[in-house]
Amino acid sequence: MMDRCNNGCQVCFEQGRAFEIERAALEFQLEVGREQGALQVTFTGREPTLHESLPQIVASARDLGYLVIQLVTNGRRLGDPDLARALVAAGLTEVLVPLWGPDAAIHDEMTRVKGSFAQTVRGVRTLLAVAGAEKTRARAVGFTLGTPVTARNVARLAEMVPLAHRLRAVELSFLRQREGAPDQPLPPPDHEVRAALRDALEVAVALRLPVTLVGFAPFDEPALDARRAEALNDDVLAPLLAHAGDRPPPCHQPAEDA
Ligand code: SF4
Repeated sequence: MMDRCNNGCQVCFEQGRAFEIERAALEFQLEVGREQGALQVTFTGREPTLHESLPQIVASARDLGYLVIQLVTNGRRLGDPDLARALVAAGLTEVLVPLWGPDAAIHDEMTRVKGSFAQTVRGVRTLLAVAGAEKTRARAVGFTLGTPVTARNVARLAEMVPLAHRLRAVELSFLRQREGAPDQPLPPPDHEVRAALRDALEVAVALRLPVTLVGFAPFDEPALDARRAEALNDDVLAPLLAHAGDRPPPCHQPAEDA
């Protein structure tokens, strides 16, 4: 939606998208998407909560019949209850929020914004609290925690699982860090990533938290690939969704607000 962001992450996944799209243009794109049969839309890049028309655009997506309306955000502005309430009322169904590590020391260092870890956690909690309070009038909001795997956090990946669990995430995604610009830190070596993901998946299976690994090729390591499959097994996923705040999977949610 735009190239502005209130974080300054050492590794930015949204760099190179220099634009800011006006509301009318976004709504036109939403109409085109529906005409072509799309039922899911994701608002991202770089920080969509800075777009002054975001709630209105989300409402337009809902009114056009999109069933899954996802926001990818650093979550800091969601601590504003008015914004959280506006997004829930407008029909937001899913939010993906990245955390660079399990504590402020790592996260704030990566975002280069002191206090951003606390603000992001507060934002997630505010949104989910609002969504829970409003669930009789609006669709529930599913929260996915995303963690890019970097050299700074690779030794702490397993700690992301209980954190995601405590924050009531329906899913935890680990994202592979691509080779970036020369001024960005290098990704961790493969053997460290494998060991860390192996530990994290063990914890995820124990806590019955679904985990997705985004951008990682098959590890060609039977024990690790088996754990990866187990963490994503429907037998794990289905009961978890059934207990996730009375929230049905997005595809089962009603198209219209009550
Ligand atoms: S929060 Fe996202 S868009 Fe903003 S600087 Fe960090 S990675 Fe880039």
